[in-house]
Amino acid sequence: MRTIIHVDMDAFYASVEQRDNPQLRGVPLAVGGAGPRSVVAAASYEARRFGVFSAMPVSKARQLCPRLHIVAPRMSVYADVSKALFAIFREFTPQVEGLSLDEAFLDVTASLTLFGNGARIAGSIKARVVDLTGLTCSIGIGPNKLVAKIASDMNKPDGLVEIRPTEVHRYLDPLPMSVLPGLGPKQRRPLLAAGLRSVGDLRRAEPADLDRLVGARAALRLQRLARAEDARAIVTGQAEKSLSAEATFDTDLAERRDLYRELSKLADRVASRTRTKGLTATTLTLKLRTPDFTTVTRQRRLRKPTANTQAFNALARELLEDWLREHPKTKLRLLGVAAVGLRNDSEPDLFEAYEPAPPAQGVDAAGDLIRDRFGIASVGRARQLSGGKPPDR
Ligand SMILES: [Mg+2]
Repeated sequence: MRTIIHVDMDAFYASVEQRDNPQLRGVPLAVGGAGPRSVVAAASYEARRFGVFSAMPVSKARQLCPRLHIVAPRMSVYADVSKALFAIFREFTPQVEGLSLDEAFLDVTASLTLFGNGARIAGSIKARVVDLTGLTCSIGIGPNKLVAKIASDMNKPDGLVEIRPTEVHRYLDPLPMSVLPGLGPKQRRPLLAAGLRSVGDLRRAEPADLDRLVGARAALRLQRLARAEDARAIVTGQAEKSLSAEATFDTDLAERRDLYRELSKLADRVASRTRTKGLTATTLTLKLRTPDFTTVTRQRRLRKPTANTQAFNALARELLEDWLREHPKTKLRLLGVAAVGLRNDSEPDLFEAYEPAPPAQGVDAAGDLIRDRFGIASVGRARQLSGGKPPDR
């Protein structure tokens, strides 16, 4: 049996701002940009009482809370705090998987004899975090990632919840099924309509009924989640698990030509950053957000690990085309591209040697050079220029 800890800082960016500026303490605060379409990156607990939460447009947040203080993000400060946090985590185990600047899974199974039980370790981490950063975190302890993550969210802020293997169903069954990962409003709708509300409802549902509601594959997955089955290991190592770029548009885009142009810019930027770090990706993720704030991700493997701009571009477009085919009239407010499954390819792939060098290599290298010297804006492929030919395919 494993002991997994999930640590999540409380309202991270907002808490850092309140820590550094006493005038911001005790007031509703959002960290966010100034643009017309910018969204709340983090909301203080005072702001959350007004219904302000992250990913909400700043304009909407202002409506809900007219006294809202909005401060610009200071990413380099958050990154420094993050470094300190992860150093603390590694005092207790090398098995640390960062999910974002302020969130990580720790597998402390092998640390138990040294540091005591899970709750003792969690208490020590919380104390170290307050001492060294002046900030609070919430911690969940469970037999796997799924349970630990749900537990950390159960008593925020400054929470510590341990769910023992024998208590999993007692804790999880009463919770709304939205606590399970990947169960968005759309997936929930048929289930709610059938009277299924809680994790326990899903767990106890007849498999045949679930099959009928969501299809056999989703039904199987849902019931596994509801039973809290999760064998995923902690993924350590690579500082970089993915490289991504995304853009929120000032006005929602409907024209395919515009969408492909934006997508191409993003794919280009991600490919360039992947090459700069000497990495290749095995998989690309497309992220998109519709005007009603539904966020969708689609993922597909590259034919082989690469950091080639054209390969990124082609696959990203394929993913977007497939989605647009299923949702022909939908506008988009955000597009993102992420390179995942990154690997350090200092040793060339054996098979690569037998294939002719991809024609774009020269173009890519020159593009990277110019970009380094003059900044990203100076280089673009023809397709990215406004008014360019719409992609044929
Ligand atoms: Mg957090």
